Amino acid sequence: MNWKRNRRNEVNAFESVPAYINTRRKTMDKKPGRNDVCWCGSNVKYKKCHAAFDDKIDSFKRIGATVPRRDIIKTPEQIELIKKSAEVNIAVLDYVAEHIKAGISTAEIDKWVYDETVKRGAIPAPLGYQGFPKSVCTSVNDAVCHGIPSEDEILEEGDIINVDCSTILNGYYSDSSRMFCIGEVDPRLKDLVDTVKESIEIGLKEVKPWGYLGDMGQAINDFITSRGYTVVREIGGHGVGLEFHEDPWVSYVSKKGTEMIMAPGMMFTIEPMVNMGKADVFVDEENDWTVYTEDGSPSAQWEIQVLITEAGYEIISY
Ligand SMILES: [Zn+2]
Repeated sequence: MNWKRNRRNEVNAFESVPAYINTRRKTMDKKPGRNDVCWCGSNVKYKKCHAAFDDKIDSFKRIGATVPRRDIIKTPEQIELIKKSAEVNIAVLDYVAEHIKAGISTAEIDKWVYDETVKRGAIPAPLGYQGFPKSVCTSVNDAVCHGIPSEDEILEEGDIINVDCSTILNGYYSDSSRMFCIGEVDPRLKDLVDTVKESIEIGLKEVKPWGYLGDMGQAINDFITSRGYTVVREIGGHGVGLEFHEDPWVSYVSKKGTEMIMAPGMMFTIEPMVNMGKADVFVDEENDWTVYTEDGSPSAQWEIQVLITEAGYEIISY
């Protein structure tokens, strides 16, 4: 158990729980013979499929780098099915974007997300996850993440809100979140929201096959802190696709040249949580879910789901 896992357990976030039990690991450790079929399920000979990939992984292992296990490397078939899930996730967030406004409750957003997800044949991943009671997370103003939709929470002009949607379609997971400014908001809040969105673009410049996740983490952190904001340490992104939360853990307080190697076929979220004030956060004792800024300052987050490809990356959900 490393320090990150400890910190994450303290906040009892979605990302804090080692939630996925991997059932595929057992068959995926050994290297096939060069003329045997590849371990990835492609039915192509190993030497023409992932042999070069494994050599590359071995070269990183030799220099002590953290490398992905095979069970988080998605096959082309899995990628297609995850993209179908993401189509639903994107459509649901588009629906929220069209309808969100002052005067509605966050419980109404929850109902939209449930209805729009189910009518597309999918399931909202948060519903019942580790006991989470609703279909979506709605985090308003000083709520950092994991806000629970409520009839009593009415959006007002000037609020900022993160709506975090996750979808299961045919067993495949997608996950992304967006910020919404309700009516006219204070220019300082607008700047916070825009800066976090821009930080993802900055981070994406470092997202490439055989780079380090820390290259991206540091790029985001440097940019955010240069604008006078702070990055939440305890909660980060995560692998996603075959499960809601997979390896790797994706930090935005990490350093260049550290953390896991980004290998083609990996999929994970980029979702920095950024505070206007101090980085410290706490969990609401009453619901044991919602994370707030310790100093009550506003917080913003955008989240995308990316796939590492041979050539670079592909945005799967946004
Ligand atoms: Zn293969």
